[in-house]
Amino acid sequence: MSLDGTYDDANIFALILQGKIPSMKLYEDDTTFAFLDIMPQTRGHALVISKWSKARNLLEIEDEALAQVMATTKKVATAIRKALNPDGIQIAQFNGAPAGQTIFHLHVHILPRWEGDPKGFAAHGAGAMADKDALQVLAEEIRAQF
Ligand code: 5GP
Repeated sequence: MSLDGTYDDANIFALILQGKIPSMKLYEDDTTFAFLDIMPQTRGHALVISKWSKARNLLEIEDEALAQVMATTKKVATAIRKALNPDGIQIAQFNGAPAGQTIFHLHVHILPRWEGDPKGFAAHGAGAMADKDALQVLAEEIRAQF
């Protein structure tokens, strides 16, 4: 999909917001939702989305929704730092399939990083599905830091 297109109400993140598919929630407020990535690139890889915006990417999102998503990104990154003590935290966001976007509901990636670990972003779809129980434990560790 290119940068232009129509928002699909049945995209995976819309279904998560509608409660139709499960997710490992880290944080939620009136306007945003944060959860663990199911194919984590690093331990604690999290995603933040707007609950109301139908923007597919950064070029479409309302300034208000963007500010809400970024405020939540900071909150969640802070909780992840307390829980996992990473050496760095990468914030990433992709727009359009050629840029690596696979789900067309704007989302921000939070990736804790540790010295000595590979720094790259693996091709999407190539990652391993995380163990559900391990994700659950991790989500509880992070949630405890809010
Ligand atoms: P994108 O490539 O669009 O920037 O990132 C999409 C992210 O969503 C990927 O990191 C991918 O692992 C993650 N993802 C795909 N399907 C699911 C899902 O069903 N649940 C969760 N929690 N993450 C997903």
